[in-house]
Amino acid sequence: MVRGEFPLFEDELPFARPTLPLPETLFNGIKDIILSGIITNGKYVSEFEKRIATYLEVKEAIAVSSATTGLMLVINALKLKGEVIIPANTFAATAHAVVWAGLKPVLVDCELTTGNISPEKVIEAITPSTTAIMGVHLYGNPCDLSKLEEIKKKFGLKLIIDAAHAMGAIYNGTMVGIQGDAHIFSLSPTKLLSVGEGGMITTNDEMLADLLRINRNYGLQPGEVDAIMIGLNGRMEEFNALLGLEGMKLLEENVIRRNNLAKFYIEGLSLLPGITFQTIESGCRSTYKDMAIFIDPVQFGLDRNFLAHVLQKEHIPTRKYFYPSIHLLKVYRDDFKEYDGKLPHTERLSSTTLSLPLYSHMKEEDIIKVCEGIKSAHLYQKELVSSY
Ligand SMILES: *Cc1c(COP(=O)(O)O)cnc(C)c1O
Repeated sequence: MVRGEFPLFEDELPFARPTLPLPETLFNGIKDIILSGIITNGKYVSEFEKRIATYLEVKEAIAVSSATTGLMLVINALKLKGEVIIPANTFAATAHAVVWAGLKPVLVDCELTTGNISPEKVIEAITPSTTAIMGVHLYGNPCDLSKLEEIKKKFGLKLIIDAAHAMGAIYNGTMVGIQGDAHIFSLSPTKLLSVGEGGMITTNDEMLADLLRINRNYGLQPGEVDAIMIGLNGRMEEFNALLGLEGMKLLEENVIRRNNLAKFYIEGLSLLPGITFQTIESGCRSTYKDMAIFIDPVQFGLDRNFLAHVLQKEHIPTRKYFYPSIHLLKVYRDDFKEYDGKLPHTERLSSTTLSLPLYSHMKEEDIIKVCEGIKSAHLYQKELVSSY
């Protein structure tokens, strides 16, 4: 469309697709589950938890019905009060979990190079009411866990990580999942390991793990009817765990494949002025849950929104993760006026970041075509702007 009459892709390219196991690998398990009559929180869930704990080299893994539920359960089980420091550059659910628990989210700015929570800003935001920090591994790229651990120790806080994007990420040579008090992974369809709806909490704290198992079961201890916690129904279904168990066999390969696909994007776009990428620190591995590019409108010639519009005409869908950022979401913006103008990095990234199509089984030639679309948008910027 930029040049010819036809879009680069005849049929719209998917933005994200779960990479799922072949149906025939699931048939026996499905039959087993149905015949056993145990369809939730049974042996497939325990096996899935064990497999994740082994993969991530962490003591405990607790399967839950979603990452949002997992975040709520962890906040509740840690008996947090007062204020929880979170990044403003994240998905709505990070903040929602804090608010649902009756706590106050305190928003901080991010690093421009990674989009991840800034440890310096965390220190500035600590007050006598602060009880926890919640980091996010943005797009699967680990946040600065060692600095956050230092702050946790120094100020006696809890450290929770919204690791929704980060199943398979590596931080300083170690799988992400063991650091802090707990990591919460999402297993929903746009994330790397998809089970339909689901989440996984990992922790090295066995006492916390026991509380979480009680808490995901209405606050009831096994075999008891008397609740000891204000729990939820946060259990995972057996079918989802079965999908997770089979999906895990593809996970490591998928993380590697996404890293290679991301490299393809980076090579394809790096010569264009005004396009930069998330910095991945040495010793770290991102999952590339999202392939985010940062667009400098002056150097590139078009701004993020205009580029998204041009690409959509080529049948290339994109996403503006995370716009609006937390303090500008409709539900929060009246209460969070205090942050207006106080989160410059977040606001800049939120208005210049564009996530491009990426899924684990995506074809390299499709990435080349997406890059072509972006290149022609840059080359023909003047024509595009004047014809708009
Ligand atoms: C997807 C996502 C969640 C929520 O995960 P669910 O499993 O859908 O509840 C939480 N935080 C972030 C950063 C996410 O991207």
